[in-house]
Amino acid sequence: MFMKKYAIIAKRDEKSEKLKTKLKDALDRTLEYDEEEPDIVISVGGDGTMLYSVHRYIDKLESVSFVGIHTGTLGFYTDYLSDEWQQLVLDIQMKDPEIVERDLLEVHYHEDVFYALNEMRIENNRRSQVIDVYISDEYLETFRGNGLLVCTSSGSTAYNKSIYGALLSPHMRAMELSEIAGINHNAYRCLGSSLILDETKYILLNTLNYRNSVLCVDLDSIELTDNELVEVYLSDRTVRFLDYREVSFIERLKRAFL
Ligand code: NAD
Repeated sequence: MFMKKYAIIAKRDEKSEKLKTKLKDALDRTLEYDEEEPDIVISVGGDGTMLYSVHRYIDKLESVSFVGIHTGTLGFYTDYLSDEWQQLVLDIQMKDPEIVERDLLEVHYHEDVFYALNEMRIENNRRSQVIDVYISDEYLETFRGNGLLVCTSSGSTAYNKSIYGALLSPHMRAMELSEIAGINHNAYRCLGSSLILDETKYILLNTLNYRNSVLCVDLDSIELTDNELVEVYLSDRTVRFLDYREVSFIERLKRAFL
């Protein structure tokens, strides 16, 4: 067993808090609870709780690994259901897991850098959003519509799926640009398809009419205030997940969507 210290991040509901107490009682016998410098973080809740957990430890990703337990149905970042918590305890205590690394997007905006495990998007639900799109240093199009989204392969099954973006195998190192209600008629043209890019490319988005538009990165959002330049890269940093069960991507798709 390689990890010594652990932390639990639970969704703020009664079921998740109770589960946290049970897990802690069982794990405290062999591991040390340390919320500041954990080796392993157990997320108790849903995919949103895992996103929160990853962002809580975003500065420590190089030393932390994550595992998720779901208090609803199985999610994409959670391998255990709540009634399997004892199995999770045993697996942590007894097994050597495979480490699965998932990509992050790096979103550069002014002097700030944000990281996204699922996606970033520029959205405007009050007026049509105009965005100049460049792929690396090549101009692609001037988009008009509700907005644009860029996701990781892990995030392709989240918001991206709701706007009919392609689903990517989470092992692919790629990012996907998808349109949110793009306008396509005689006067305005946009690509109309999702665009999947390899890691050598980056995406530059220049918002031209920025009023009421919002930059969202996973769970966070920022109001845009001026003509804004946002650059999106596949980061060299990754998030490490402990994979004790080796649930395949196809199995996850079937459980979640079919
Ligand atoms: P949440 O926890 O209620 O999550 C919303 C839904 O997205 C849940 O059903 C969750 O299981 C699912 N989800 C999250 N990540 C996923 C992934 N990688 N693959 C498949 N499903 C995934 O809401 P939240 O806490 O605000 O979570 C934020 C995420 O919710 C965002 O990153 C975004 O992807 C997603 N979201 C989706 C829509 C949409 O589909 N129209 C709208 C807003 C946010």
